[in-house]
Amino acid sequence: MLTISPIPAFNDNYIWHLTRNGEHWVVDPGDAAPVMAELGDTPLSGILITHHHYDHTGGIAELRSRYQCPVIGPASIDGVTDPIADGDQLELLGMPMQVLAVPGHTLDHLALVLHESRDGRDRQHLFCGDTLFAAGCGRLFEGTPAQMHASLGKLAALPPQTLVYCAHEYTLANLRFAEAAEPGNSAVANRLSEVKALRAEQRVTLPSSIGEELATNPFLRCHVPAVAHRAAGHCGMESADEVEVFACLRRWKDSF
Ligand SMILES: [Zn+2]
Repeated sequence: MLTISPIPAFNDNYIWHLTRNGEHWVVDPGDAAPVMAELGDTPLSGILITHHHYDHTGGIAELRSRYQCPVIGPASIDGVTDPIADGDQLELLGMPMQVLAVPGHTLDHLALVLHESRDGRDRQHLFCGDTLFAAGCGRLFEGTPAQMHASLGKLAALPPQTLVYCAHEYTLANLRFAEAAEPGNSAVANRLSEVKALRAEQRVTLPSSIGEELATNPFLRCHVPAVAHRAAGHCGMESADEVEVFACLRRWKDSF
């Protein structure tokens, strides 16, 4: 059986640890030390990388030298042994995995969708790095608003039951912004009170699901008139198309 658990790193990063049939993979090990502490004497089978930022890649060299394991990720990143790109289909942990290009936060950013068959049903697990966060999205360091909006659209189109494994614990701050962006959304208000309770006990708020994001994430709700109206108003525009709404929300959140 597949198990997926977070290894906390730095202030608020999660390195996701995937285990099945004695194999161990990690996603975005920004730091080797917490991964080695988690594994103990168990060898690491391999590493997956979503994008080039140091808090996602900083542990690659040390983990490779200790475990001699493959590193699957964007071709541009030092230490990647098995480059992947948009549209690739791989097999990981005995399961199919699909690669999606999701430029915006960085230009090299990839998202990975693992397809698990359990009890005769297909369950998807999305590893989206810093593109989609619970109730939020990554900052635009390299890409344009149009690129990020299109990338988020690809992820939003996954089945609503898809579980979403983001790379940071940003949920509480994101929901506070979601409430400002769409004050009348009761799903946001309910999620905010649940997440406040979880964080009061320092508990992990992930994984999320695509369905939950569609209901509460303002960056996936640029088509909703109430969100569009507030975002355009914040930017001083009378009306805005979806990409402009997205750009206004992102700028607003950057200084929220
Ligand atoms: Zn990043």
